[in-house]
Amino acid sequence: MLKAFLNLLLPQICPLCAEDADDGRFCQRCFAGIRLITGPICPCCGMPFVSQENTEHLCGRCIIKEPPFEAARSAGVYKGVLLEAIHRFKYNGKTSLAKPLIKIIADMFPANACGLIVPVPLHKTRLKERGFNQSLLLAKGLAKIYNLPIDYLNLKRIRATDHQANLKGKDRLTNVMGAFAVQDKAAFQDKKILLIDDVYTTGATITECSKVLKKAGAKGIDVLTLARVADL
Ligand SMILES: [Zn+2]
Ligand SMILES: [Zn+2]
Repeated sequence: MLKAFLNLLLPQICPLCAEDADDGRFCQRCFAGIRLITGPICPCCGMPFVSQENTEHLCGRCIIKEPPFEAARSAGVYKGVLLEAIHRFKYNGKTSLAKPLIKIIADMFPANACGLIVPVPLHKTRLKERGFNQSLLLAKGLAKIYNLPIDYLNLKRIRATDHQANLKGKDRLTNVMGAFAVQDKAAFQDKKILLIDDVYTTGATITECSKVLKKAGAKGIDVLTLARVADL
């Protein structure tokens, strides 16, 4: 009753196309344009396999070099409506998109076994440019849903890096090398950490963050990203 009344006062609309939508979600048409990652994946880095018949097995990259995190998962493929939504959220400052994007992650991953949420930090010059850290907004929403504490002060980006989007493969790795540091190691000591980022591209950023967190005494790291670059 109250909800119906509130809906009359404040009709719920899709933050992407302004069509009718359920509370805080994308409309059905926009949601249908998001490719969720539901098929077989590498159990370590979360890379989706093109063949849907493939059973889960480590991907070639994880066999050659074991990542410093236990498991990375992403809600959807970084293309179509999800790519469009992330661009508007991140580069056009449309922070009202945070809520439906957080819901997509939480619907895909309703629970986790971590003890602390940590967003991938931005360097202060980038933060000034953008005005907000998109990963922090996602992490704050997820911390509420998972009922977990969040630490966004002790993992720092100490070096301004080039935009990863402009770089390829190896250059991404060298670009983020030494870019992160931990301020107070006690904050991460013996903690199982859930690291949050918006997009998993080559994994260079989360790999570097995970290394630094492990060095600071973290017991283990799981990674959750909203989207992932994949050929699906
Ligand atoms: Zn829509
Ligand atoms: Zn893998």
